[in-house]
Amino acid sequence: MKRVLLIATAALLTALAVAAIQYNPADTELWEPVPAVVSAPPGQPPSDAIVLFDGRDLSAWTARDGTPAPWRAADGALVVEPGTGDLLSREKFCDVQLHLEWMVPEPDPTTTGQQRSNSGVFLQDRYEVQVLDSYQNPTYVNGQAASVYKQAPPLVNAMRPPTQWQTYDIIFTAPTFEGEQVVTPALVTVLHNGVLVQNHTELQGPTLFIGKPSYKAHGCAPIRLQDHRNPVYFRNIWVRPL
Ligand code: MG
Repeated sequence: MKRVLLIATAALLTALAVAAIQYNPADTELWEPVPAVVSAPPGQPPSDAIVLFDGRDLSAWTARDGTPAPWRAADGALVVEPGTGDLLSREKFCDVQLHLEWMVPEPDPTTTGQQRSNSGVFLQDRYEVQVLDSYQNPTYVNGQAASVYKQAPPLVNAMRPPTQWQTYDIIFTAPTFEGEQVVTPALVTVLHNGVLVQNHTELQGPTLFIGKPSYKAHGCAPIRLQDHRNPVYFRNIWVRPL
């Protein structure tokens, strides 16, 4: 009987010791590496962001052929100059957090669907998050604002009316390749006016107007803004390589 009691006591003490180790709060505390300090004042780019447009300066952008950006800065906005071609960032990017604001003018009532203030934000020069006046303007849903064009409609339509500024916050993970083979596809998360509209969406390949996309190996590449021959406005464009 005494022996049984001793064994039971020992077992209890062991259990208590294990419990004490298991529930020591410090065991699960991580103290390093210490995250870098980033200041993020309201309405301004975070201190570690690369500013691509500050309201005046177009020097972070070029035309496709490398010549100076043919769009114009007006009243703090970067304005599409219809027919002059897309803008490409001089710098190339892979994984990024991208913030930009955009605005569409009052619609020309003769325009509908894809013709109404169309533009776009291309990650790595290939993968388009659609910019379009999607306020009371039906079109195919994987072509409306905040869609991954021709691949994924937005979860909801968070579009504000024309002449109001909209925000996009985009988190993009670049695809990876081994030789010509894709190993991991591109992933994109998008918040439109603070509303989640793409949640870790897997891309099937580069954006195509016609046909099914498929990957071709590539490296880091510019961010591209689309000239779809409509005057769309952009401002406060900044990017954080991840
Ligand atoms: Mg577009």
